[in-house]
Amino acid sequence: MSKTTDPLETYRTKRNFSATAEPKGAEHPQKEKSGTLTFVVQKHAATQLHYDFRLEWNGVLLSWAVPKGPSLDPSVKRLAMQVEDHPLEYGTFEGTIPKGEYGGGTVMLWDHGTWTPEVPDVDAALKKGDLKFELHGEKLLGSWVLVRVRGGYGGSKKPGWLLIKHKDKYASKENVTVEKPRSVATKRLLEEIA
Ligand code: MN
Repeated sequence: MSKTTDPLETYRTKRNFSATAEPKGAEHPQKEKSGTLTFVVQKHAATQLHYDFRLEWNGVLLSWAVPKGPSLDPSVKRLAMQVEDHPLEYGTFEGTIPKGEYGGGTVMLWDHGTWTPEVPDVDAALKKGDLKFELHGEKLLGSWVLVRVRGGYGGSKKPGWLLIKHKDKYASKENVTVEKPRSVATKRLLEEIA
């Protein structure tokens, strides 16, 4: 989020790595050279259940906490609160963060895959607050947009965005978070991970 020499400084400052199994992340995150960008959605039973939506960009995972999770219905706009950038290694993390630690609770790999920008300049789109992209996941597919809400959301300092499905052949009325509750990595339910 903020411009620092270490893009993961906020992430690391919030966590005690002798207490949590979450990855510390590389000292100097490297940009992906293959040109393939990954994305991950983690179902996170913290104080409030939410889905963490993460897009790889510039060697880190840009991250948004989506309280209700993504919707495949283009008429539904889901609030997505931008949170600190996470290390790429976080994209394979599934397990439990100890109670009392930052984000304490169970984390499930709910979906993963790759993403493709639908804009010529991702940095400019993020700055503008209007990022269009395509997801190639197991549960989430097709065209989506993240739009920043003017002035943030509900008086929170965290920038508020909306995650919206575009109309395409992958749009549907299916309640994907209810119909597909299992981990894409281990097929477990949240209770089975905990
Ligand atoms: Mn979270």
